Amino acid sequence: MNNYGIINKIYDGIVEVNGLKLAKYGEMILFSYNIKGIVFSLNKNNVNIVLLDEYIKLAQGDKCYCTNKIFEISINFNLIGRILNAKGEFIDLKKNIFIKEKYSVEKIAPGVMDRESVNEPLLTGIKAIDSMIPIGKGQRELIIGDRQTGKTTIAIDTIINQKNKNVICIYVCIGQKISSLINVIEKLKKNNCLKYTIIIAATAADSAAEQYIAPYTACTIGEYFRDKGLDSLIIYDDLTKHAWAYRQISLLLKRSPGREAYPGDVFYLHSRLLERSSKVNNIFIKKKFKYETGSLTAFPIIETLEGDVTSFIPTNVISITDGQIFLDNNLFNSNIRPAINVGLSVSRVGGAAQYKIVKKLSGDIRIMLAQYRELEAFSKFSSDLDIETKNQLNNGEKITLLMKQKPNNVYSVIELITILLIIKNIFFKKIKSSYIEYFEKIIINYMRKINLENFLNINDNNLEFKINELINFFIYGSII
Ligand code: ATP
Ligand code: MG
Repeated sequence: MNNYGIINKIYDGIVEVNGLKLAKYGEMILFSYNIKGIVFSLNKNNVNIVLLDEYIKLAQGDKCYCTNKIFEISINFNLIGRILNAKGEFIDLKKNIFIKEKYSVEKIAPGVMDRESVNEPLLTGIKAIDSMIPIGKGQRELIIGDRQTGKTTIAIDTIINQKNKNVICIYVCIGQKISSLINVIEKLKKNNCLKYTIIIAATAADSAAEQYIAPYTACTIGEYFRDKGLDSLIIYDDLTKHAWAYRQISLLLKRSPGREAYPGDVFYLHSRLLERSSKVNNIFIKKKFKYETGSLTAFPIIETLEGDVTSFIPTNVISITDGQIFLDNNLFNSNIRPAINVGLSVSRVGGAAQYKIVKKLSGDIRIMLAQYRELEAFSKFSSDLDIETKNQLNNGEKITLLMKQKPNNVYSVIELITILLIIKNIFFKKIKSSYIEYFEKIIINYMRKINLENFLNINDNNLEFKINELINFFIYGSII
């Protein structure tokens, strides 16, 4: 029998096993007391296994067995609304349920023929993103920024905005403090989002192996829903900590350290994970009708140090994803929140995943803001500016103010169109910048109060005219 081995050494969550001649890379190995581990290196004389469970009871000389399987988790629709650990086990106080269907956590991403182009919007409810950095279902959009710049807030707001939109959301906490995770859960609970959200927790208190496996577990859960023809969204919060966990394991396994002490295959760590988010076609999900597609959208989060996007992990993930939302510490501190740096942020899927009317209206805004920022830096040096420059500065300032947004205050697409039409209105040039936020507030509050959403349709050809009427009513009815 070659499929069992004897423990030779145990150290820091890693076991060295003699025997196990049939073990394969990535295979799940079973120890006594139902302790599981994953094969990480196949050496000439032994095998190194990283343990996923508490291993205090294991001793040298104990036996372990091959399972001939990659690590598996149980998935079905009952996971929705629950909190799981990295191994897919329930850790909330609700009833434990037995789930028969099992899926392995590592899978090959769908190929080109299985994919559909990303052409449906995934609305985040954040004005600046939905107008200038549109995100589509099946896209991978990176959220990158220093610590405490509102990265998690953008992700949570996006989950809040998926209410009643048939998108299943998955939030994976990797290496975060337990207090941050509790904060996120509280926010989701308060906004009634748990009924369509799954939380996967591998906090800083969990082992490096659990932090390493957590995003793959989450991705498998997301794929389960995608392959059923549904839309799912995953937030990986955050992949910097994931790379740290992998670096820790690799160093313990004595793999040679490379740049910033990461092992050589750290790019593959994230590329094989993010490649799995996709929009798949009806042939892949075996549905009869052409319009039936499934999607898995991913929002990986990366934390930078002093805004440095050129360090190893940020450059890797920037090159893997289809765009990034860059959060700027200076903007955050000058109270422009969300602190999105529009110049450095991009969505490579672009307008294909945006409603036509939003695309039309937001076309100039990005350019106006870029010009504003350029002029702003320039205007600091000279005091007398010509009228045109003054106007540009003035408009830029007002647009920046209109793009500000509080957490948990998501904007529907109709409300976003209203904001964009306010910017286009002739009156916008005349209104004082100190007045613009107040003006926006009264018009949006009014729209929410009378539930205007229910009376307007995004596909209506007269939508622009109708909203313009409303804006004009507010301008001439309440201000003049
Ligand atoms: P960390 O690096 O600790 O994970 P983070 O980048 O995820 O932080 P958040 O936790 O989302 O940042 O936000 C940090 C703080 O900034 C929070 O107190 C949050 O309430 C505040 N904040 C975030 N976005 C906004 C916003 N748009 N308006 C006002 N405050 C905000
Ligand atoms: Mg965070």
